[in-house]
Amino acid sequence: MSSRMNLPLLATSAVGSYPKPAYLLEARRKALRQQISKQELTALEQRATREWIQIQEDIGLDLLVDGEQYRGDMVAYFADEMEGFAIAGLVRSYGNRYYPKPVVVGPVGRRHPVTVEWFKFAQSLTKRPVKGMLTGPYTIAEWSFNEHYPTRRELVLELARAVGEEARDLEKAGARYIQIDEPAIHTRPDEDFELALEAMEIVTDGLSAYTVSHICYGDVPRIYPRVLKLAVDQLDLALKNEHFALLETFKQARFTKDIGVGVVDAHSHRVESVEEVAEGIRKTLQVIPAEQIMVSPDCGLKTRAIDETVGKLRAMVDGAKVVRNELTGTREPTRA
Ligand SMILES: [Zn+2]
Repeated sequence: MSSRMNLPLLATSAVGSYPKPAYLLEARRKALRQQISKQELTALEQRATREWIQIQEDIGLDLLVDGEQYRGDMVAYFADEMEGFAIAGLVRSYGNRYYPKPVVVGPVGRRHPVTVEWFKFAQSLTKRPVKGMLTGPYTIAEWSFNEHYPTRRELVLELARAVGEEARDLEKAGARYIQIDEPAIHTRPDEDFELALEAMEIVTDGLSAYTVSHICYGDVPRIYPRVLKLAVDQLDLALKNEHFALLETFKQARFTKDIGVGVVDAHSHRVESVEEVAEGIRKTLQVIPAEQIMVSPDCGLKTRAIDETVGKLRAMVDGAKVVRNELTGTREPTRA
């Protein structure tokens, strides 16, 4: 467990993914057909990462992400890079979206560090802190078929050891903020929620970095307040999408961790206004003290257009500034 270090009050960050520019989408299609080399694709992924770091600096986010320009699906990416997985065909998830579902066919584990080189690259581009970004063991297991381990529990705990090694490698590489996403944590709230808690204990054991877990849309009230036992410093949650209804849940038992408050909708095209963001933060302040609050979008923004993403991030940063000024009584320019 760790402090937020020198981040400002109501510090702003993002959940992880940003949309890929057209040249990168085109390059990824060509790479699948082996029309361009791995090196050429990597160079374009680096270019897109550089652009997103610059955009975040220009807008003024406090804690940056690399934008995941080199990742496709958040689970398949790790499955691809780790031992023990094969990829089944495309599986239908929400609506008409399809994703490649991994199959566990042998003992799972890391062949090599998965995200460390990308973290180091992104961090080398900026003086602001960049978050290390991992997918949590419970979610990897939940979104895969298990054809190897006799029980789900064994699979989840073995994945937890692997993700924990990755987290420690990120910390060694200089990451002071590490996010371990568990968007699927509320899938079986009565069956094995305790297992998700146990797995996160293994992942963050011994870390001194500030840790975050992003939990997606879904039945958060079903796992509250139990989810406050998750072994991370901050829970990052989507509040905007349901008009801050979750605050009613948080009134029932004190929110004892830091919270990453989602203040812009990741699924709508509409760009929120600065005042709308500020109002969302003010609502949250009625339930949770400012010292525990960080500000972020509801979810990853990879399905948004680039201009929508930039607009939403800008509204988020400026809205946080408005409320920060109200709290501290200082006047800083709206745009740094
Ligand atoms: Zn999400």
